[in-house]
Amino acid sequence: MNKREFLKSMQGLILFFPAAGVLSALGVEVSAQETSAQPGSAAAYNPQDHLYGMGIEIDKCIGCNRCVEACKAENDVPQDDAHYRTWVERYVIKKDGEVAVVNISGSAAAAREGMPEDADILRTFFVPKLCNQCVNPPCVQVCPVGATFSTEDGVVLVDANRCIGCSYCIQACPYGARYMNPRTKTADKCTFCYHRVRQGLLPACVEVCPTQARVFGDLRSKASRLVRFARMNKIHVLKPALNTEPKVYYAQLDGEVR
Ligand code: SF4
Ligand code: SF4
Repeated sequence: MNKREFLKSMQGLILFFPAAGVLSALGVEVSAQETSAQPGSAAAYNPQDHLYGMGIEIDKCIGCNRCVEACKAENDVPQDDAHYRTWVERYVIKKDGEVAVVNISGSAAAAREGMPEDADILRTFFVPKLCNQCVNPPCVQVCPVGATFSTEDGVVLVDANRCIGCSYCIQACPYGARYMNPRTKTADKCTFCYHRVRQGLLPACVEVCPTQARVFGDLRSKASRLVRFARMNKIHVLKPALNTEPKVYYAQLDGEVR
């Protein structure tokens, strides 16, 4: 089954997860049954047994962009500076308190633009970003044709066969995680490499990260690396006040990150 046929088969699995489910998993009272330590073991796969999320350890990210390159290759993302399913931002906190943010996943020139002089820098760090696979996704809510939907195992997908390219979801996403694919003229974004995860593989970005800054796992499995990560770190999500309930969880996230 190719990716298009696979997405078609997922149509109709529109579902919103109760907030308490994810929070209790992070809290970390995971009451659901134990599942395979491997995410999404292909045999007898039942999506209701899984709820996928990602952890990102800021202190481990070295800004090498291997994740971005792997994602573009795996998911056929246009090889230009305008389209990403995941990207890495460099945050620079200046001595005077000012904050500069640049996307370092594009050209070197773009990455240098807007960067303060070294002497002015107090500290700097990298923040990988991607679709947060929100439990309450505004992108799903605004799609007029149901092309964007949540799967039972907690991944927000786009069915390119149904998408009419209206861009409502792109405007509705508060994280800038979506783009219009210039080839297909349909909305596109990170899927946690759903085609891989369903076969028991890790998302490409997680697999290649040389420092294991990215952790993928199943919130319904007490044995998963993600649940251990959530237990061992103080977890933050982006824009918590929006109530979107992201399932990308950051450790060591600076308060300046939006
Ligand atoms: Fe939708 Fe944006 Fe949330 Fe991803 S981050 S689920 S694209 S609202
Ligand atoms: Fe950071 Fe890992 Fe991506 Fe490199 S591969 S930029 S270390 S998250």
